[in-house]
This record gives sequence, C-alpha cells and structure tokens, in this order.
Amino acid sequence: MIEAVRVLVLNQTYEPINVCGARRAVRMMLLGKAETIEVDGFMVRSERLNFRLPVVIRLLHYVRVPRKAEAPFSKKNVFRRDGHTCQYCGSPNELTLDHISPLSRGGRTTWENVVCCCRKCNARKGNRLPEEAEMRLLRPARKPRYYSFEWMNPRMTASPHLRWEKYLDLFGGS
Ligand SMILES: [Zn+2]
Repeated sequence: MIEAVRVLVLNQTYEPINVCGARRAVRMMLLGKAETIEVDGFMVRSERLNFRLPVVIRLLHYVRVPRKAEAPFSKKNVFRRDGHTCQYCGSPNELTLDHISPLSRGGRTTWENVVCCCRKCNARKGNRLPEEAEMRLLRPARKPRYYSFEWMNPRMTASPHLRWEKYLDLFGGS
C-alpha cells in the first residue's frame, strides 16, 4: 500500500519541485534530508519505527531547480496545464480546446485565452464569452512556469492530494 502513496516534495523555500513515491520520501526523512510537513492517516509500522506517512515533505537544504521562463504553447501542454479536465465543468471526457474570447471576436491563441474544454461545454458556449454564456472557468488561464507542478511527471501528479493544494497555489501559474 505504501507504494501507492505519492508525496509532494517542497524545496526548502516551500516551492513544490517534485512528486515521489512514499518509499523514497521516507528514505529522505530517515537520512535527515527532509522533514514532514503534512501527513494523512497512513501509519507505517516496522519493528523499529512507528510513524504517520507524510503526503508533503520539505527538503532541509535548498536545491537549485533549472528553469525556463517560457512554457512552450501547444494543445498537449494546455491539456497538461489543465490536468486533462474541462475548465468549465471538470469533465475528463471528449476534450478539445476553447478560446475563452472567441477567435472570431479577436481572441488570441495564447496561454491566457485558451483552455481545455469538453465538447459539451464548447458547444454550449459557442461564439460567446463565458460571462455571456453564464459559464465560469474553474480557475484563471495562466501561462505556466516551465518548472511548476503541471510539468512534473503526469503519472505521479494525476489527481493531486487535497493536502497538496495550499502549496501548489502558492507557486501555481506565472
Ligand atoms: Zn465541460
């Protein structure tokens, strides 16, 4: 079961830099390289140790993370930024791209104006602005930082843990 638990790794500055498996997180803590920031209900029991498994850990020493200022814009990367869910209704099905401000009305194809959207919402919105269609984005469309959470291993970051949220918000987007 421990293998299934994913742990958000924060830099010393509390910036999220990685997601790893619980086994690796525990090893880093035992080596004195990281401390527990958030735990969930999981208990780890061995003959020597009893402790609650972390879901967020923080490195005790700052790690320099390579950055690129610009995240390359592409359909695949918009899907990645938006977690492969419709940014109006949250559906993971039949996804396409939506121009928040429609192309026909001068909207541009940029990070700030394009979101992942299901076909239903796309059809419902049509040639209108979200306000006109009485639709709301789940979160603002922003240009992601190249090394922010969206760019980490998609397998590890699928369905983020609730307790990760406040750390991701801190550094989300630009
Ligand atoms: Zn939708």
